[in-house]
Amino acid sequence: MEPLRIEFPIGWSMGSVNAYLFTQPEVVLVDAGVKTEACWEMLVAGLATHGVAVRDLSRVVVTHPHVDHFGLAGRIVAESDATVWICELGAPWLTDMDGMWTARMAYYRDEFLPPLGLSAQANEIILAGMRGLAAHADPVPADRLVTFRPDGALQMGGAGWQVIHAPGHAAAQTVFYQPEVRRLLSADMLLAVAPAPVIDHPAPGERRAPSLPLFLRSFDALDALAIDMVYPGHGRPFSDHRAVIARQRARIADRKTQCLELIRTGQTTVPQLLESMYAHQPPESRIAGLWMLIGYLDLLLDEGSVCEELRGGVCHYYPV
Ligand SMILES: [Zn+2]
Repeated sequence: MEPLRIEFPIGWSMGSVNAYLFTQPEVVLVDAGVKTEACWEMLVAGLATHGVAVRDLSRVVVTHPHVDHFGLAGRIVAESDATVWICELGAPWLTDMDGMWTARMAYYRDEFLPPLGLSAQANEIILAGMRGLAAHADPVPADRLVTFRPDGALQMGGAGWQVIHAPGHAAAQTVFYQPEVRRLLSADMLLAVAPAPVIDHPAPGERRAPSLPLFLRSFDALDALAIDMVYPGHGRPFSDHRAVIARQRARIADRKTQCLELIRTGQTTVPQLLESMYAHQPPESRIAGLWMLIGYLDLLLDEGSVCEELRGGVCHYYPV
């Protein structure tokens, strides 16, 4: 059966987030909105539209461990016999939310942000935004969690879906592909709008993974699939996945070139580049611009167009 979309309007993250419902042969929900009373009511109403209730849910399958995609999972398991399924890479975010957010915040505060040289005020806005996000989900008890492998398979809606690990938006991002009917549950890996290469904290002792270069590699993997319909994590389903990917690649290439031009004119630091490229974003959402900018710099470093030098504790970028 076709995935049934339930849309939750939320005050951030592109205005709304989707969950998808399969009612046969068992009731399965893919993703679970944000933890608010309004979203809960919309979930109950959305399920009722399709003749089912929260207690009928047997599984909640989470595409990636961001709060707008698993926010209500904890409450669902408290009010049903459902289990929550997620790729093993993302499981700690559901069972040990506090520990993971503490590690994320510590990485941003102590390692990631200081060498960027942003103002103390800008850093505080970023950290406060992250603190606020952490409140939008409940953890899931470990004994109600089932993990699958990043290259695993799932049964949903009477069909077998391939799990594809597609990092870039999240290190633990998975998408689900049904090859016979050529459908893709793309979560936040493939949206009709621009990507968000969120920077994850690395495992202890490891380096940060370059989110935007990973995003582009995941685009390659999805580009190669035969897909008739994409069911994204935000916005309406769409059919022309290759055109959407091509548009996003072109935009990324343009903005990367623009970044290089600015560096050539002597804008060598992140605060300067952020101000030139993202002045249109209000300070509260400047983090989205910062993730993109770091992504362009990762790409430019990768291809050898720029080099990075630490001067007085602040990263500077120079053309090569
Ligand atoms: Zn999302």
